[in-house]
Formats: sequence, structure tokens, C-alpha cells
Amino acid sequence: IVSLRDVQKSFGPLKVLDGVSFAVDRGEVLAIIGRSGSGKSTALRCIDRFEKVDGGEIMVCGHRVDRPDVDLRALRQDVGIVFQSYNLFPHLTIEQNITLAPCAVKKMATGQAKELARKVLAQVGLEEKLHAYPEQLSGGQQQRAAIARSLAMQPKVMLFDEVTSALDPELTGEVLKVIEQLAADGMTMVMVTHEMGFAKSIADRIVFMHRGKVHESGPASILTSPTTPELRQFVGTGN
Ligand code: ATP
Ligand code: MG
Repeated sequence: IVSLRDVQKSFGPLKVLDGVSFAVDRGEVLAIIGRSGSGKSTALRCIDRFEKVDGGEIMVCGHRVDRPDVDLRALRQDVGIVFQSYNLFPHLTIEQNITLAPCAVKKMATGQAKELARKVLAQVGLEEKLHAYPEQLSGGQQQRAAIARSLAMQPKVMLFDEVTSALDPELTGEVLKVIEQLAADGMTMVMVTHEMGFAKSIADRIVFMHRGKVHESGPASILTSPTTPELRQFVGTGN
């Protein structure tokens, strides 16, 4: 459902992705790990075409993302992305935040969109915050609301970029639980994470990035028995 083949990306003279290849099957959870600056976020952003690639092939839900004529609107309907910072619209209620895109992009009727908002908020355990504003929510609740907003577009793939790294440890768990439930429901997901324990428990496959390349990849067991010195060092130092 997602595949990258020999993807190249530079920012000026800096080569950030140097031949990255990996694939994710429907219903699979892939975790991308690696040191700061290794290209994890860039790889993730290429999947949703927030970055244009210089070379290689990216296929997502049938869209050729590397091509200049890719239908961005269709692509973004199939792929939801949640970042480290919540990016909710501060002047809108949680319900308005959630119904905005379904109404504007999918031309959904208001009543139907509101019903959907209730449903996705229930999925993240925030039904009672429907009419609250983002600033009235804790960081963990805001992040769950951001996930709900993505879910309202009924994506086929969800991308998460360190969604818990801005949170206090006690709020991290509630967000990870939501992601865990999504995985159990069969959502296809690609997540960049520093939470090694979480990656180990939830990911079907791990991609370890190092200097713009997939340095090692495999099942979650590579975290306990890494074959390359770089991954061994990475897991050893608690990154
Ligand atoms: P972190 O764990 O710190 O989030 P990362 O693995 O996600 O790191 P990236 O954000 O993909 O790393 O960045 C890889 C490299 O590309 C870094 O050296 C970064 O400075 C550089 N980079 C990222 N985005 C841009 C940009 N828009 N313009 C120039 N350089 C960039
Ligand atoms: Mg990053």
C-alpha cells in the first residue's frame, strides 16, 4: 500500500535521503527509528508529498507520489499525517476542527460531519471535548484530537511523526494507547518514534535509518538482536 524505491532527496548540498527503500503492506505498522538528522521526518514527509523527491519511486495507495502530476487532493484523502506539534486551529472548537476538512474537501453535509466528529472523538476517548477549544485541552488531549481530526478523513494510511515527543511522560501513554487501538483495528501506519518499547510492542517491522539510508530493517526482534554496530549502539544508548 506504501512503497519507496531508491528515494533520493537533497536540501541544497546536503543529501538527506540516499537511496531509501521500504514497503508497508495493508494493515501493517512500520516504525522508523534512528538518530536525529538521519532523515526520518523527511522520508515520512515524502510519502505525503510535503517534500518533493529528487529521484526514485514512491507509490502510495495507487498514487505515484514521485510524479509531478500526482493528484495531491486524492493523495491527502488517502493519507493522514500527525506531527509532533498538534496544529489544531486555536480559534475553532474541537468539533469545528474535525468537521472542517470533511465539509470542505469531501463536501460532506454538516449533520453528517458532526456525527462523524462524535464518532472519531469517541475513538480517541474525547467525546466530552466536542465543544471545547484547543487551549482548554491538555497536550495529550490535543494530540488525541489531532489524531481524531485525521481519522475523520477516513484515511487508508496514517503517518505519525514523533507524536508524543512534545508531551510529558504521563501524557504519552494515553496517546500511545490510541495508536495501539488503531493498530488493533487494522489501520496501516508508518510512525517515526523514539519510544523503543512502544515500537517493539506495536511494529510489524522496523526501519533503522542512518545517514539517509535504511541501515538495518526487519521485525521488531532486530531491536533486541541488532546486526549492525550502528543499530546496536543506537538501542544501547537508549538513543
Ligand atoms: P529528528 O530525530 O531530529 O527529528 P530526523 O531524522 O527526522 O531528525 P530530518 O528532519 O529528516 O531528520 O532531517 C534530516 C536532515 O535534513 C537534517 O540535517 C536537517 O537539518 C535537514 N533538513 C530537514 N528539512 C530541511 C529543509 N527544509 N531545508 C534544509 N535542510 C533540511
Ligand atoms: Mg524528525
